[in-house]
Amino acid sequence: MGIDFYTDFDPTYGQVVGLSPLVRRLVAKNPNPFTYTGTGVYVIGRGDVAVVDPGPSMDDHLDSVEAMLDPGERITHILVTHTHTDHTAGVAKLQERTGAPTHGFGPHGPVPDTHPLDMVSFDEYFTEDEKAEFNKAWADTPDELKREGPDTDFVPDIAVRDGDVIAGAGWTVEVVHTPGHTSNHVCFGLREEASLFTGDHVMGWATSVISPPDGDLFDYMNSLRKLLERADERYIPTHGPIITRPHEHVRAFLAHRQSREDQIVEALKSAPDDGQIAIKDLVPTMYADVDKRLWRAAANSVYAHLLGLQRQGRVEQQEDGWVLVDPTAASSSQRDV
Ligand SMILES: [Zn+2]
Repeated sequence: MGIDFYTDFDPTYGQVVGLSPLVRRLVAKNPNPFTYTGTGVYVIGRGDVAVVDPGPSMDDHLDSVEAMLDPGERITHILVTHTHTDHTAGVAKLQERTGAPTHGFGPHGPVPDTHPLDMVSFDEYFTEDEKAEFNKAWADTPDELKREGPDTDFVPDIAVRDGDVIAGAGWTVEVVHTPGHTSNHVCFGLREEASLFTGDHVMGWATSVISPPDGDLFDYMNSLRKLLERADERYIPTHGPIITRPHEHVRAFLAHRQSREDQIVEALKSAPDDGQIAIKDLVPTMYADVDKRLWRAAANSVYAHLLGLQRQGRVEQQEDGWVLVDPTAASSSQRDV
């Protein structure tokens, strides 16, 4: 089962693109393997407008965000889908410039000092040339963009909850809580145009990174199903193009995650000797056709799957890896726990 990715996208850096009567877009010049062509910043409305996810904090980028407005317009709302720095690093500065209050679910969840995957390395899979190339690209990357990840500074002025409605001048946005990518992720549904701003929950160009402990695959799957109950006509993600067949796309993501889980279970079933397989050995096979620079992120997703399987009592973590507890147990409902 494949996913029909939406990859046809020209970021037109520095230019404002009108997407619909109420929506304008600008793409920040922060492309990398996680942001695709960069962070898409959206303006909703005419006159008194909202900005969805201001993006990075580079001054020239924020100048461009302000320049998205026509003379006489002003930013009255800053809407935040979730607390990752490629979405929120520029919030404080944009707020200083505009005085607009921020609307978001809440601060980022706890970030542990050490991560269970800190010791996982895929160095052995990179040639010396590839390592040199990546190191050079890294050296050329602005400091801010190297810190892409949890933004633990952001606290919304106005904490929003699922079902809340934020009304502006001629626009109405409904909050849809979609935990998974982060626990505080929300989507914003623009009622007048039946469009859903999906942040990083559903993107066209790639699946979402689920990074435990704040990222949670079980929640993510439920948040995907939640979108199937809505009648949005298009999704507008932060990275990449608009998704024009939303439910089809969400169903493909659900099927994709199920097949990843099946792959893990199959790999564990055929584990050698002691039955243990480590995440660093699962990833290169499962993600053989994916850019190796994304394997660290993929390791997070595999870990997220294993935690989900563990919750169902189907796998267990041991000293050198993970083992299948009961290969015949098809689901948690068969277990009396
Ligand atoms: Zn994110």
